[in-house]
Amino acid sequence: MICEDKEVLNYMIEEARIYTKDGKVADYIPALKEADSSVLSLAIYDGGKTCAAVGNVEETFTLQSISKVLSLALALMDQGVEEVFSKVGMEPTGDPFNSIIKLETNKPNKPLNPMINAGALAVTSMIAGTTTEEKLGRLLSFIHELTGNPKISYDEHVANSELATAHLNRSLAYFMKQHGVFDDDVEDLLDLYTKQCAIEVSCQDLAKIGYVIANEGRHVESHRPIIPLHISRILKTFMVTCGMYNASGEFAIRVGIPAKSGVSGGIMASIPHGLGIGIYGPALDDKGNSIAGMKLLEALSSRYDLSIF
Ligand code: GLN
Repeated sequence: MICEDKEVLNYMIEEARIYTKDGKVADYIPALKEADSSVLSLAIYDGGKTCAAVGNVEETFTLQSISKVLSLALALMDQGVEEVFSKVGMEPTGDPFNSIIKLETNKPNKPLNPMINAGALAVTSMIAGTTTEEKLGRLLSFIHELTGNPKISYDEHVANSELATAHLNRSLAYFMKQHGVFDDDVEDLLDLYTKQCAIEVSCQDLAKIGYVIANEGRHVESHRPIIPLHISRILKTFMVTCGMYNASGEFAIRVGIPAKSGVSGGIMASIPHGLGIGIYGPALDDKGNSIAGMKLLEALSSRYDLSIF
């Protein structure tokens, strides 16, 4: 029913768009500065033929931190739960996504969870394959399967722009290499990680990925499992506890939907056994979440009673 409420969704998106004025596009990755801060789009997928999509639906954007959910899924399928969580923890940090502090203070020096940059770098190092091309190719094929869109690739301009300026992520990676979290060549790992973050999607693609994660990892049409059930549960749990960075607690109270954001302004949400939602709004709040996207999800959750709690 929500997908048929086009008029209401159009109204809600214009209400939420007002908040874009209070946010700022990310600027620490130079290419992300080029985004139009007034853009806002929403797609909702319920497993039917098409997504309900409103706002600036023709816009595409890069996954950024949303990719952390997908690299985690792949690493868990490749290496198994025990191996992955011997290198990365399961606890929220309460710190910004790129913070280095707990890497040193938390003993042993492994990253606290896979949704912060340090943890995501460790997870990316566990994607199986011998070359960057092979590992990235496997991640892209996985995303093609999740979305049914074989055209999805990465944005080279954004990837290069991040790779040239990712000194903080480099420092996280060198610190972890020193402490034996992984043994990869740091530049190769950064190359793969920045390409992974630069995978380009639409809000409809995002809604479809969110839907598969919501519905026990099953393929939209064939219902064949693409992600094993126990892994899709792990993904949704991290989305609740760490998905919105250090705003995850407030988001759980205000919205109550497993979700993951990225600094490009994307948000992917998965309502267990229900809808997949994709949002794009590049104006961010001070924690790096889409400012209007958060307001929109809050309004949707309240109007359609979507909180899982
Ligand atoms: N590529 C970004 C980074 O590593 C992703 C961060 C994010 O979306 N929060 O800084």
